[in-house]
Amino acid sequence: MARMSVDDKLALSVFHTDEANPHIVINEDYDNEEEIRKVVLACPAALYHYDNGKVTFSHEGCLECGTCRVLSIGKVVKSWDHPNSTCGVQFRQG
Ligand code: SF4
Repeated sequence: MARMSVDDKLALSVFHTDEANPHIVINEDYDNEEEIRKVVLACPAALYHYDNGKVTFSHEGCLECGTCRVLSIGKVVKSWDHPNSTCGVQFRQG
């Protein structure tokens, strides 16, 4: 059996997104560029973006790794919870 790349494994994951209740909420007015760049670079799913001095975020595709919570709770990240039951990511390959 051939070894799978991380990207190939992640492509098999299934996401059940709770559109009405994002499990991560950010401070959209946060303006410390250094702190913002930390979460932009650290998020393995590339869900944070920084353009024209503004941070944006989408919870769709979140891997629930908690990295942004550890790095930036109270800064960029206003609140972080696990998704409601039956929602979130289902990893199919590790
Ligand atoms: S929990 Fe992980 S994957 Fe989800 S937004 Fe934060 S850093 Fe990105």
